[in-house]
Amino acid sequence: MTFLEDFAKTHANEKEFLAAVLEVGHSLEPLFERHPEYVPYFKELLEPENVIHFEVKWVDDKGKERVNQGYRVQWCNAIGPYKGGLRFHPSVNLSILKMLAFEQTFKNALTGLPMGGGKGGSNFDPKGKSEAEVERFCRAFMDQLYPYIGIDTDVPAGDIGVGGREITYMYDEYKKKSGKDDGALTGKSLKDGGSILRPEATGYGLCYYTQALLKDQFKTSFKDKKVVISGSGNVATFACEKAQQLGAQVIAMSDSSSAIYDPEGIDLKTVRAIKEGERGRIHEYLESHPKATEMASNAIWGIPCDIALPCATQFEIKESDADTLIKNHCLVVCEGSNMSTEIKAAQKLIAASIGYAPGKASNAGGVTVSGFEMAQNRTKQHWSYEQVDQLLKQTMENIYYSAEGLAASPKEKKDLITLSNESAFLRVMSAKKAKAK
Ligand code: NDP
Repeated sequence: MTFLEDFAKTHANEKEFLAAVLEVGHSLEPLFERHPEYVPYFKELLEPENVIHFEVKWVDDKGKERVNQGYRVQWCNAIGPYKGGLRFHPSVNLSILKMLAFEQTFKNALTGLPMGGGKGGSNFDPKGKSEAEVERFCRAFMDQLYPYIGIDTDVPAGDIGVGGREITYMYDEYKKKSGKDDGALTGKSLKDGGSILRPEATGYGLCYYTQALLKDQFKTSFKDKKVVISGSGNVATFACEKAQQLGAQVIAMSDSSSAIYDPEGIDLKTVRAIKEGERGRIHEYLESHPKATEMASNAIWGIPCDIALPCATQFEIKESDADTLIKNHCLVVCEGSNMSTEIKAAQKLIAASIGYAPGKASNAGGVTVSGFEMAQNRTKQHWSYEQVDQLLKQTMENIYYSAEGLAASPKEKKDLITLSNESAFLRVMSAKKAKAK
């Protein structure tokens, strides 16, 4: 399609963002052939509505001033306020944030909740920083960002490197500087109006989505399945917890240093103890589990499994990994991380009839519960654990079945990338049309 070719030429230096646009754009081509009148709406979605770029000046423990780059990318607010996480990681740049904000717009549309799309963060590396340094950085970051956010305008949350601790510092700073306590961040502590189950939401939601896919496409469940999960952060550990609760055996996890394989099943308590506080390395697991073995992080996809849940970072499943998963008869690959799978690898998985789910659908649990948090803050309500868990499960099943519902007949059966992108795009487009009236 010509406009995608032109776009690829003009955005060649933003490879992550370009990959995301091409994935969505190509998957929508059949829809655009039937409805060329939709194309202008898609073109409007190819650039952010606002990009806020600022310097974050903070002081380290030695009293030295340090400077990092800070960003907020506000993509589209047709459905509701901009919404999406903040990532603190040295790899953060505008291309990665544009990819994430673009994807977030589609993901948020899939939830059916009133949320637009956005993303932000900084190239600040929380690793090796003291608690006091993290606090000073978070406050300095919010000192720059607070004028641009609010419950009805833009509601950031956590992402890599930003958990409950960082949200607490940033929300406190937001309240001080703005004079408002309107819930302009989600993932807050319960004391600050956070929703119960937010930490668990992405990992649990991933398993609820995977459960629906397993049931619908393979007439089976998590019970007695072997599961490989990359990462050992928020998404990975709660996916592990839920998969185990649902009767699966999780046999491998990883971090950026290495992966561990435990044929007896991962002992999640040990992983959590290693990762709490100073964030130890996953190979420390071997000290208390002598039957476990260690390998390179990216060798994790070579471990034969029924269910693969990439929950670490973008583009972690390459073509060669897809070949190995296919050879090892893996049933499903559901993404916990955003853009976990390279496009060609995803195409191979789909061609081999593996149940492959793109992150924008399967990891939408986190933003779903963030949406619930916004609703609770607006109405000053507090929903119970059971209520939130039930609603999360229902939403993840709806995301799966409402996309599947677009494949009206078995003849028209499409893959979950196409179906999820179509479902999301149609929702964003109709919101844009309604707003324009
Ligand atoms: P965390 O920072 O809590 O954890 C990330 C984990 O991935 C860490 O264990 C990290 O290891 C590991 N990791 C990073 N790079 C690699 C690599 N190259 N190979 C192997 N492991 C690696 O982040 P989250 O769990 O919150 O997020 C994980 C992914 O899920 C991200 O893509 C994020 O965008 C996505 N996501 C998160 C949501 C949430 O609610 N948190 C919502 C939706 C999506 P190390 O400690 O060594 O860096």
